[in-house]
Amino acid sequence: MDPIHTEIAVLGAGPGGYAAAFYAADLGRRVVLVEQSPRLGGVCLNAGCIPSKALLHSTHAITTARESALRGITFGAPQVDLARLRAWKESVLAKLAAGIAQLAKSRGVQEVAGRGRFTDSRNLDVETANGTQRVSFQHAIIATGSRPSLPKAFDIGSPRVMTSTEALELPDIPARMLVIGGGYIGMELATVFAALGSKIVVAEALDGILAGADADLTRLVLSWARKNLQEIRLKARVTSLRIEGDEVHVTTEFDGKTVEESYDRILVAVGRVPNTEGIGLENTRATLDDRRFIVVDARQQTADPSILAIGDVAGGVLLAHKAAREARVAVETITGSPAPPRKSVMPAVVFTDPEVAWCGLTEAEAKQQGIAVEISKFQWGASGRAQAMDRPDGLTKLILEPQTQRVLGVGIAGHGAGELISEGVLAIEMGATVRDLARCIHPHPTLSETLMESAEAFFGHATHAFVHKRAA
Ligand code: NAD
Repeated sequence: MDPIHTEIAVLGAGPGGYAAAFYAADLGRRVVLVEQSPRLGGVCLNAGCIPSKALLHSTHAITTARESALRGITFGAPQVDLARLRAWKESVLAKLAAGIAQLAKSRGVQEVAGRGRFTDSRNLDVETANGTQRVSFQHAIIATGSRPSLPKAFDIGSPRVMTSTEALELPDIPARMLVIGGGYIGMELATVFAALGSKIVVAEALDGILAGADADLTRLVLSWARKNLQEIRLKARVTSLRIEGDEVHVTTEFDGKTVEESYDRILVAVGRVPNTEGIGLENTRATLDDRRFIVVDARQQTADPSILAIGDVAGGVLLAHKAAREARVAVETITGSPAPPRKSVMPAVVFTDPEVAWCGLTEAEAKQQGIAVEISKFQWGASGRAQAMDRPDGLTKLILEPQTQRVLGVGIAGHGAGELISEGVLAIEMGATVRDLARCIHPHPTLSETLMESAEAFFGHATHAFVHKRAA
């Protein structure tokens, strides 16, 4: 095969990689996109964000139907046709992947299907179905992502022990499942399987779930978990697994005791590790940190002048929208962006029930870093829309700079928090003060009013909450 010469080679077609390839092509650059999987979209589309949201959407119908009995509308017991649910989920992924492939084609991005490996700082060898394809580039962007971590103690070679990848394939509805890890993945998939009827125990080593989010927000998810899971254990460390007949025997250190028990399936959700092996990094000057993530600077530049890295593989928070932002920064670094990239406000959303979303500074971070802040909160029980939806289990909070009254952070727990958080991102990015937020008219009756009311509460005049007045 003749070598391909390109300006930019992108390794990996997840939400970081394809966004980089598309943006570079939009700026008129010649781009090659290398992907080993038959489908573009990466983990997010194929085994992460999108399938999990498709399942959460589907199982939400079960909980909504059950809860509506309390309001006088009763349905029969749900019948779950797993094959059909799987097929529908698959159709969503196929549609989106086809869209990405079409967008690549329309932009003239050249796809090379196969596993790419750097031979030096200017060349990649891609193992394609037809042999080795050499791709010579001026710049490469590594966007190879991450995969679920499966610590040795849990890697017992049994299909009964799943990571999120296998769990999202919905092999069955286990009667009893242990979820190891009360992080994003553990709690989202516990939500799906609990609704499908599995008895779920979550074991989390720390003293709280969803590390990173403020405890007053995660408290609402904990209270959901206490009602809807068989058990949620905090400060519980699972130490070993072994197969016993048709079950997995589990040892957990919990409550000062060693607990021994058996489950039908185990979901291991204890974090993710970067895909930095087997891609020939040793043939470049790019370096890794002690957790094997690629070291990059604020412009996504690695220690190799012709190689950049973005997304999960470059560390930081492992979120698709962070990868997509870094894609733009990397392309602008290559094309000579006039302004240095600045630190953007990074929202995070956990699609539990209720959802938890936050952006900017959290209250816990302010405390850890000794930053003086003022907090203003609005409980959703006082929101007409939340009550009309029978979802008063919500909280909207603002983290404010005392002198300037600028919004430094926003946290929301409640139904649809993931959609609401963007107003917080905009407020912080635009340097809005709490007064700006209070003055913006929010449509009634909507959950977005909780942002306005939490701002009004700061001045002591939230219409639907009585708070002691402060001088305006
Ligand atoms: P995580 O880091 O969010 O949570 C893992 C949890 O497992 C931690 O709380 C840790 O204390 C616990 N743990 C580790 N070892 C344990 C043990 N032996 N026993 C009990 N608990 C143990 O990791 P995750 O949930 O696997 O998710 C990985 C990444 O994927 C996240 O960092 C997140 O960025 C991303 N993700 C994002 C979304 C989203 O944006 N909605 C959804 C899923 C995943």
